[in-house]
Amino acid sequence: MSMLSIENLVANHGLLNAVKGVSFSVEKGDVLSIVGSNGAGKTTLFRAISGVHPIVSGSVLLDGDAIDNVSANRRVEKGLVMVPEGRRLFSDMTVKENLMVAAEHGRKGDWVLDKVVDALPGLKSIVNKRAGGLSGGQRQSVAIGRALMSNPTILLIDEVSLGLSPIAIGELYESLDHLKQKLDVTFIIVEQDLNRAITFSDHTICMLEGSIELEGKSSTLDKKDIYAAYFGVE
Ligand code: ATP
Repeated sequence: MSMLSIENLVANHGLLNAVKGVSFSVEKGDVLSIVGSNGAGKTTLFRAISGVHPIVSGSVLLDGDAIDNVSANRRVEKGLVMVPEGRRLFSDMTVKENLMVAAEHGRKGDWVLDKVVDALPGLKSIVNKRAGGLSGGQRQSVAIGRALMSNPTILLIDEVSLGLSPIAIGELYESLDHLKQKLDVTFIIVEQDLNRAITFSDHTICMLEGSIELEGKSSTLDKKDIYAAYFGVE
């Protein structure tokens, strides 16, 4: 049984059909990357899976159980945790306070403050700093750290590297590689850097205008085909 299955998912923004019947499955321990141009529907898909955007039809199954009527908070408690695009930290709170908020609301488990701080780049030196004053890379570290505090079994990270410096991206992926190898976390990432996406993931999906245009094993996909799928070139 797949850890997460998405079946024929449809999600709209008003009259606009943003996700048009998307289906895929993720196995436990796998990394799936979702790529595609701006407006392809990646964020809407993530938000629908997380339960913060309504679905019109279709189904989300976690460990074989449909969770369509489960609230977003309850999904987090079940281990389905999203790092939203734009990180969404509480600017006036310290890094530590941002992390502790997630501990109160998430699943209980091994991921406690010290372990999270050790697992992500640069967190140790900023735990007592206000989140509002951090760099993009630091904010992404805190956002992923906050998600880990909820002890996810499946972690969705929207726009992993968007807006970050090359050094910050390198450090972040080093940490994610480490998490992938050492831990029982299944990842789905949205990544606009195609090389990063296919190197880090086992499977890749390319979305175009709300549908899956191309999917396959990352190691066997041809980059030329992915670029063609990005732009809908036949
Ligand atoms: P991006 O990388 O720009 O976030 P994306 O692949 O994540 O792109 P979505 O943000 O899911 O795509 O957008 C899918 C479609 O829904 C686009 O046509 C977009 O313009 C539209 N859309 C997204 N958010 C809203 C909103 N809040 N209100 C109305 N339309 C929206």
